[in-house]
Amino acid sequence: MNNIRNLPVTQRLINLAEECNECAQATLKLYRAMHGDTPVSMMDAREHLIEEIADVSVCMTALGDMAPLSDVGEVITQKAARWEERINDPDVRRRMMEDAYHGEG
Ligand SMILES: [Mg+2]
Repeated sequence: MNNIRNLPVTQRLINLAEECNECAQATLKLYRAMHGDTPVSMMDAREHLIEEIADVSVCMTALGDMAPLSDVGEVITQKAARWEERINDPDVRRRMMEDAYHGEG
């Protein structure tokens, strides 16, 4: 039986890059839907984003021999801690509240 991991690594890298791009586009589409800047509904945009995140996850799993999920998990833990530190910084929190109140940009 064919397995996605049997594809050449170059093909799997291309697949991940393509799916990351689709995920970025779906993310921006949901952002625009939240701001009424597209005819796409928030519900449809959200469903599409979930689909693209799933596609990225499948591609990440398929690249397990190049970037094992256990290694990725360690980095996620470190980055999440750094992000938490940043959002607990009073200056960063104040700016986030101002952006939320006044809108970004
Ligand atoms: Mg996709």
